[in-house]
Formats: sequence, structure tokens, C-alpha cells
Amino acid sequence: MHFLDQAKIYLKSGAGGPGAVSFRREKYIEYGGPDGGNGGKGGDIVFEAVQGLNTLIDFRYSQHFKAARGGHGMGRDRTGAGAKDLVIKVPVGTQILSEDKEEVLADFTEVGQRIVFLEGGMGGRGNASYKSSTNRAPRQHQPGEPGEEMWVWLRLKLLADVGLLGLPNAGKSTFINAVSNAKAKVGHYAFTTLVPKLGVVRHKGREFVLADIPGLIEGAADGAGIGDRFLGHIERCRVLIHLVDISGEDPAEAFRTVNAELEAYGADLIAKPQLVALNKLDLADEELVAGFAEELLEAGAEEVFAISGATGAGIEQLLDAVLGYLPEQTATETKAGPEEESDGEGEWSPI
Ligand code: GDP
Ligand code: MG
Repeated sequence: MHFLDQAKIYLKSGAGGPGAVSFRREKYIEYGGPDGGNGGKGGDIVFEAVQGLNTLIDFRYSQHFKAARGGHGMGRDRTGAGAKDLVIKVPVGTQILSEDKEEVLADFTEVGQRIVFLEGGMGGRGNASYKSSTNRAPRQHQPGEPGEEMWVWLRLKLLADVGLLGLPNAGKSTFINAVSNAKAKVGHYAFTTLVPKLGVVRHKGREFVLADIPGLIEGAADGAGIGDRFLGHIERCRVLIHLVDISGEDPAEAFRTVNAELEAYGADLIAKPQLVALNKLDLADEELVAGFAEELLEAGAEEVFAISGATGAGIEQLLDAVLGYLPEQTATETKAGPEEESDGEGEWSPI
């Protein structure tokens, strides 16, 4: 169960609107016939795979998705309005599993794939539809059909957008915890406990998956559940963050050591852009930082940041730089969110 993002959500399609009981009332027509219209159809629960989403993190904020109810039928044979469908956007690669996780109910493999997962209920019949030669003034009508409801699991295998490098003790774990907790704004976001080497970062309305590359390399060696996912992580990485411990003996040497390992590993890792960050800024004075930064630049670093995973200093600028390397569409507007909120009684309700 490595690198899985999962979330349990509740789904309910909209009930159909009730049919109306109504009789024509017009001047000069006594005892007008029945004219109660049928109720409108309830909204469907639809899933759509979209580009630009990498995680299921949004489903931790909102777990209840209810489509709107159909409109009531009305007099003068007016049918109630059909409710808007509730479209839930998920990343490509998402699977929908039954509540007991035994069955895969849907599998999203390409952008644009859409599935009507739960149908909204049909509207009820209005009394006009019961009119017959023997019953000219029916009062019969139906309530709308109820919606369907279900708990399901969403499951997604994560791929890292950003790789994290550094010698042991450079502060990688501290950094991942700091950025994924702080920016994701969810203290209990499960990854950090499930897979300590992987975190989801949300920064300025965008999100990305950050993975400890040495951790992946070690994991790939023993094949423990990572296997083919590993190369996927490497390919997907757009940029690497290379942490260098400012309190270490020789930061420039540490930087070269890690790069040599990276080059030896292959898989084109060394060709990825690297943001080099002198970490543990809180342990050094400015002069020392400037000196080390200079040495790193001489050792081949293109850009050097100074940060502290422990205090948070400098992290904002580093994450800003990371965003510059990620595809634009990792933006909030493509997420399942309140823009899908439906009118009426049924609703998209973050709980
Ligand atoms: P990793 O081996 O690269 O994952 O490094 P860790 O995150 O486990 O950190 C190694 C040690 O450095 C731990 O004792 C951390 O508390 C400490 N550490 C990490 N980041 C900072 C920092 O920004 N400032 C200071 N003073 N210590 C840090
Ligand atoms: Mg660690």
C-alpha cells in the first residue's frame, strides 16, 4: 500500500421532484380538468477525470457530495425543473472502490473520462397524467423517486512532481513535514504517517507531491511495493530540491557527494533542474551563509536558497521557485469544489 492517496466519501444523487396536484382555473370554465405537471429529475452524481489534479487532498476537506433534488411539478401542466448534475473532478489514475474496498467500481485512465455514477431519481407523476375517461378529476400524484446513496473510497497512486535530495541528516524529513503539514493545512493528512518519505504540498493555491529521492532509491533496491512506480516518480519529477546542511563539515563537498550518487544512479536524475537550499539557517550567521552559498555556486549549483525546515525561514521563496517549474494547470480552478455547488435542496456540503 505504498504511495496511495485515499479518501472515503459519501455520495447521494438527487431525488426526483414530486408531481403536482392542480386543476385548471380559468374564467368561464367551471371545474377545469387536472393540470398538475410531473416533477423534475434529480441531479446525477457524475465523476470526471481532469488534468492538473495530482492528489485527492480536496476530498479530505469535503467528504459529502449530494446532487440537488428535482423541481416540483406545477399547475398548468408545467414539469418541474431537472436538477443540475453534480460533477466531481478527480485526477487521472483515480479508482472508485466499494466501501469494503473489495470491488473496483470505476477506473479513470484518461483526461475527460466521465461516468454517471449515481442516477438522480425520476420526477413523480402529476395528477394531469392520471386523467382518464373514468376519472376526470384525479387527485393522484407521485412523490419523486428517491436518489441513490453510497459510501465509496477514492484511491490514487501518487507520483512525485518534486524530488528531495540530501545526505542523511540534511533535514529532508523535517522539511517534508514542515511544508506538507503547513501548506496542506491538515495536521493529520495521512501521508506523513503512511509513507514518511512522501508529502503533498499546497502552496499559493497549487499543489504538488514531494518525495524523498534517496528514500525512493533505497526502496527501489529492495523492491518493497515500489517497483515500477519508482521510474514513474523519476520521470514525473520536474525539479529537485537539494538540501545541504549548513552545520555540516563541508557543505560544498556534501553537495558534490550527493550529485555523484545521483549521476551514478542514472535514470537522467542528474539532468533535472536543482534548487539548492542551505538548510538549518538558524544555526549559522549571515557571513557563513554567504560564504557557503558562494562555494555551492562554484561547485555547480545554479541557484542557492537559504532555509530552515525547523523555523520555516526562507521556505516561501523556495516553494515559489518550485512552482515555476511545474505545469501551470496545477491550479485550483480544476479541482472538485464549490463551483459545482448545485442549487436547491440537495447540495455539495463540505463537512
Ligand atoms: P534527514 O535525515 O535528511 O531526513 O534529516 P532529518 O529531517 O531527520 O533531520 C536531521 C536532524 O537535523 C534532526 O535532528 C533535525 O531535528 C535537525 N534539523 C532538521 N532541520 C533543521 C533546521 O532547519 N534547523 C535545525 N537547527 N535543525 C534541523
Ligand atoms: Mg529522514
